[in-house]
Amino acid sequence: MADCIFCKIAAGEIPSSKVYEDERVYAFKDINPQAPVHILVTPKEHMANVLECAEREDDLLGHLMKVASRIAKEQGLAENGFRLVTNCGKHGAQSVNHLHIHILGGRQLGEQMA
Ligand code: 5GP
Ligand code: ZN
Repeated sequence: MADCIFCKIAAGEIPSSKVYEDERVYAFKDINPQAPVHILVTPKEHMANVLECAEREDDLLGHLMKVASRIAKEQGLAENGFRLVTNCGKHGAQSVNHLHIHILGGRQLGEQMA
C-alpha cells in the first residue's frame, strides 16, 4: 500500500534491522524499543489491524503468533517470559495502521496492561 511505512519496510524500500522473514511475514527490531528485546512481526501484505486480518485470512494470525513465539524463543526469552501485544485502532493506541505484533521482553514488565 502506498505511503505505508511497514509495507515499505517489508519490501526493503526502507531499511530495518531484520530478525526473520518468510513468504508471508517480516519481523524487525522496533526503532524505539520499550524493552531490551522489542521486535515487530508483520504480514508482508498490507492489512490495517487484527480485525482486518481475522476477516480476510484463514490462518495468517496463527502463523504470525507462531513466528512471534519462535522468535521469542530464539531471542532467549522463553525461560523468563515475554509479552505479545497487538494494538488496534484509536483506543488501542495503534500508531502504524499496518498489522503488527509486538514482542517485548528481556526485563520484568509491568503488571498493569494498560
Ligand atoms: P503501535 O503504536 O502502532 O502499536 O506500534 C508502532 C511501533 O512501530 C512503535 O513501537 C514504533 O516505535 C515503531 N515504528 C514506527 N516507525 C518505525 C520505523 O520506521 N521503523 C521501525 N523499525 N519501527 C518503527
Ligand atoms: Zn502496509
